[in-house]
Amino acid sequence: MFEALQANSGNGHLVPPVALAGKPTGGRESNGMNIRIVEHPLARHLVTRLRDKATAPAEFRTLTNHLTVILALEATRDLPVIRQQIETPLETMEGDTLPEGPVVIPILRAGLGMLSAIVDLFPAVSVGYIGLARDHTTAVASSYYLKLPPVAEKPVLIVDPMLATGGSATQAIDAVKEAGGTDIRLVCVVAAPEGVAAVNERHPDVPIIGAALDRELNDQKYILPGLGDFGDRLYGTL
Ligand code: URA
Repeated sequence: MFEALQANSGNGHLVPPVALAGKPTGGRESNGMNIRIVEHPLARHLVTRLRDKATAPAEFRTLTNHLTVILALEATRDLPVIRQQIETPLETMEGDTLPEGPVVIPILRAGLGMLSAIVDLFPAVSVGYIGLARDHTTAVASSYYLKLPPVAEKPVLIVDPMLATGGSATQAIDAVKEAGGTDIRLVCVVAAPEGVAAVNERHPDVPIIGAALDRELNDQKYILPGLGDFGDRLYGTL
């Protein structure tokens, strides 16, 4: 059947599905990288469309929204729920509800592209913002804005689509921990091994959830093969 499908697949070639056994949606990656890569075929499709340089900003934003839903579900699969009795139109039953929404904190500016999907998903979400600007020559991030809601005892999703050097992510995690956050999850689209290593080393308690782990950084600290500057692709500021 695979061969038959392959014969009909046009320009591309059909890739066999990722084996489900031993390949859950998450897990410790090989070579010591602690990042959970979402292996869903739709996630892989969406990342590929984001990578394509022909994808224009409007489509890029839509793809980002859809992919963020998948990533957010994976990043929150262990949230506690409250069991309570409800009445369906037909009978009484016990059902689960979320006690409260998580806190979501986009790292400005590219993280904004992932915000609305999460705000739409979780009914009682609260939102914080961290502004970190990356110097294009040194690639060092400096903080220009910080506004956080209460984070203690709440699940906190820090969202930043490109985990490159890990400088912004580690600074953002530092800031959330200083504000009392203890349950922090970092959600990205594409990660570089360098960024994963930096976050794993400084914040081993913070799980990273992503859609792709790429090869390396170039001299300008862009991810290869990557997708270019996420903020520019998102907002058409190329
Ligand atoms: N930020 C981006 O937008 N892209 C990269 O490749 C690295 C950092």
